Amino acid sequence: MKKLFRIAGLVGALLLPTILTAQQAPQLLALKENAVAEVDRLQTLTQQMVDQIFSYSELGFQEHETSRYVTGILEKNGFHVERGVAGIPTAWVAAYGSGKPVIGFITDEDCIPRASQRPGVAYHDPLIEGAPGHGEGHNSGMAVNITAALVLKKLMDEHHLAGTIKIFPGIAEELLGTKAFYVRAGLFKDVDLVLGTHVDSEFSTSYGTGDGKWSGLVSVQYFFHGKAAHAASAPWDGRSALDGVSLMNAGWEFRREHLRLQQRSHYVIINGGDQPNVVPSEAAVWYYFRELDYPHIKSLYEIGNTMADAAAKMSNTTVDHKLVGSAWPPFFNKVIAETQHKNMEAVGMPKWSEADQTLAKALQKEISAKVEGLKEKIEPLKEAEKNPIGGGSDDVGDISWNVPMVYLMYPANIPHLPGHSWANAVAMATPIAHKGSTAGAKVQAMTALDFLLQPELVKQAWDYFRNVQTKEIHYESFLAPEDKPASEMNKEKMEKFLPQLKTFYYDPTKYKSYLEQLGISYPTVKAQP
Ligand SMILES: [Zn+2]
Repeated sequence: MKKLFRIAGLVGALLLPTILTAQQAPQLLALKENAVAEVDRLQTLTQQMVDQIFSYSELGFQEHETSRYVTGILEKNGFHVERGVAGIPTAWVAAYGSGKPVIGFITDEDCIPRASQRPGVAYHDPLIEGAPGHGEGHNSGMAVNITAALVLKKLMDEHHLAGTIKIFPGIAEELLGTKAFYVRAGLFKDVDLVLGTHVDSEFSTSYGTGDGKWSGLVSVQYFFHGKAAHAASAPWDGRSALDGVSLMNAGWEFRREHLRLQQRSHYVIINGGDQPNVVPSEAAVWYYFRELDYPHIKSLYEIGNTMADAAAKMSNTTVDHKLVGSAWPPFFNKVIAETQHKNMEAVGMPKWSEADQTLAKALQKEISAKVEGLKEKIEPLKEAEKNPIGGGSDDVGDISWNVPMVYLMYPANIPHLPGHSWANAVAMATPIAHKGSTAGAKVQAMTALDFLLQPELVKQAWDYFRNVQTKEIHYESFLAPEDKPASEMNKEKMEKFLPQLKTFYYDPTKYKSYLEQLGISYPTVKAQP
């Protein structure tokens, strides 16, 4: 009898952590309420982070000020920070707590070339002509994740909660430049799940391939080498590297017609030679090869290499290539997405003011988009699309194939904007971004609490990851062993604008908001004709 009891006790003990007990349910609920109140209490810090990072406007791999600023906040709050991870100077990992589960937060920091824009102004009005700017809204993600992490830290301390929060930066996301290297460096080996966040105009989450508008890619630069000569007096002595580039591009345009409709490929010439009277000895072209899955991306990459070799033969030049970015198409976890969506329903959309809506509608009108203002409702949980058509890419895809992950899209921007442009920067240091980031931080903190307090949910997320997501598809990196992070990219572009940008850095000790510092009345819209 005694033995039986012992066994029953053991079974009970084994089962105990796998279900939410009667005591835990109210505790979880109370903690979530507490978290929401704490996020609200940190609204000023959230706003300052959004504005500060907006003012830094740093391109991929050059996020020096941004990384210094955010790791400073984390360190000051007791997080342990490791810098220069995965061989990337601006990358870092911050951690707080101990034991399981280990919950990772990730979000991007980098901005877009030529997207400089005065915030709160509903027409093109660059802060610095030609300078980089947050025309994707990546300045808000760290405000979301750090606000949530600081709140979790407080609750973990006060309530002695076991578990670890790890924060990762999306370095050079616009170049799809780092996550495959993070994975290769083993940064997620001990992580149980990853809660990623990304700016959007809607409040949404998805699982599987989401709305099907994701592609994976490889980003490759082809360097052609020829021979310089006087272009008029001795052209027969020269071999044009630019001919190699032009022939490769022409070949690609013919081949494009015979590729799957799901592919997307595009290129820019990054070096076209120096001046017309010199036969270009060096020229280079940069391709993005996008497709829906690993085998198709790999095959596009191989076609690209064949085109380059053939073009080199035709132009009697040589060619080599360098992989500068790669991304698997993301696949998100159903268990985490369902949990997260319930929290999103509880938080609801931010309350937009008349001024917020005026800015949104004026900008939509200005760029000839649908004039609809800001979204008022959260999106239903997006289920996996059966027939994905492809679209943009995000290198968090690589993480999502190594650990259960979701991507929370929080409503901090205006709908119907073109993306990657000055227009997408307009709202990003205004109350729209501030309120959207606060809403995002609430969901982020609540979802982390769900997994910190319910180990069964972590197990379920892994069941889905192992038995559904990766049942037949296994992650293989696009990286060859010799591939290295392209951390020198954007250096010159950034250095060119740095002195001017510095004069616009936000100073929260003097100004309540960046709008106030810049003397912008909110909203600034064109007078109605
Ligand atoms: Zn992005």
